Amino acid sequence: MENILSALSLSENIRSGKLSVREALDAVFEKIEQKEERLHCFLTIDREGAYREAEALQEKVMRGEAAGPLFGVPVAVKDNLCTKGLRTTCGSKMLEEFVPPYDATAVKSLRDAGMIILGKTNLDEFAMGNTTETSYFGFTRNPHGEAYVPGGSSGGSTAAVASGECLLALGTDTGGSVRQPASHCGVVGVKPTYGSVSRYGLIAYCSSMDQVGPIARNVSDCAALMEVLCSWDEKDSTSKRRGRLELMPSLEQGVAGRRIGIPKEYFDASLDPQVAEAVMGAARALERRGAIVKEFSLPLFRYFVPDYYLIACAEASSNLERYDGMKYGFSKREGDLHETYRKTRAQGFGDEMRRRILLGTFALSEGYYDAYYLKALKVRRLIANAFDEALREFDLILGPVAPSTAPRLGEAAKDPVQSYMADAYTVPANLTGLPAISVPCRRDDKGLPIGVQLMGRAFDEAQLFAAARVIEKELQDA
Ligand code: GLN
Repeated sequence: MENILSALSLSENIRSGKLSVREALDAVFEKIEQKEERLHCFLTIDREGAYREAEALQEKVMRGEAAGPLFGVPVAVKDNLCTKGLRTTCGSKMLEEFVPPYDATAVKSLRDAGMIILGKTNLDEFAMGNTTETSYFGFTRNPHGEAYVPGGSSGGSTAAVASGECLLALGTDTGGSVRQPASHCGVVGVKPTYGSVSRYGLIAYCSSMDQVGPIARNVSDCAALMEVLCSWDEKDSTSKRRGRLELMPSLEQGVAGRRIGIPKEYFDASLDPQVAEAVMGAARALERRGAIVKEFSLPLFRYFVPDYYLIACAEASSNLERYDGMKYGFSKREGDLHETYRKTRAQGFGDEMRRRILLGTFALSEGYYDAYYLKALKVRRLIANAFDEALREFDLILGPVAPSTAPRLGEAAKDPVQSYMADAYTVPANLTGLPAISVPCRRDDKGLPIGVQLMGRAFDEAQLFAAARVIEKELQDA
């Protein structure tokens, strides 16, 4: 087991009977025992459920019914995706005791593929943040440097994959929450085209941007998990009806003749030179394999962050109205109805949540709606048009994932606006709905991983994965 590093080969070994499902699970739990106390990737571990499932899957192997490239592989799930009978907290006191009566569609897809759910991973409260430090249940450490954050909000999932506590995980990405922690933890993470993966059972943050995304140790495993996740779902009206996604056949197609654009505005003063060098290194690697790389101008760059935060906070303030202490979740019933609302929401949500609810409610209020929210929607359209235009000239857009490697624990809270600014490279994929991948590239002088990002045309994940595979082959072992 120690030498089986990929989920695909693990599954192959299980299906051919070389390894039992239980043995695979034992190995993962051994890692969890060694590392979890220090790293704190998980909020809930379902050991009993996992072993029960392992037994059922082993019987399938015996009966010759084991099928699918990820059959038998243990997987971790971010704790904002509903899991039937298994606590789902969203990293918040508000949902500390919440046990969903149903599975999110993405979770059901994992089970249908014969995968084993190990437990639920830590996240920033309601997925709002980029360090995993706003979790009500405490922070997660970066496995590559324990004094550093793993990134966020899917930091529990990416740290679990990076540390070997699992081989695959699900994250969610509203403004970078799969790609940025993947970059900080040295793993592969994808934000699929909006509408590719069902949002049913994903606890809403900003519904027009939320997407579930796969996290893996390498591009091939990530592609296999992506294939499992993408399907039309009648329970999500924004899910797109398309044929089965096939990534594996074109994974090794390379990038010969592909046109790749790099926005020159991305290289401003706030970009760490080591990250800039990583992006240029990836560009050279793609060129060596026949791609044509060119700079282009994206003048709207400086509006990405303000536009994203305005819309995200507005939608969040509306989505979070449901946590009123009446229907489910934390409740502080004291005084009259308004008093109950006030106390429930003041005590149930953390500081970052309250800040965003206030900002969002303000932007949506009468008299300000046109000036802020409506204007932000117009800017969103302009940004989408700019990317559409760029993607007529280029097949892919290459850039950084984050302006620096993982910050130290405790640093981000000192300056929230500065921390928001760090999302500049990831939010455009969410504002536009376009797909994007974060792939590990090299390390900085502190030994922390640096990822680079590729963005592509809507539903053209195949090119994204093929180019990421080239970067992986050319650079990772260099
Ligand atoms: N960091 C961004 C935010 O706080 C993105 C979060 C996410 O993608 N869930 O909103």
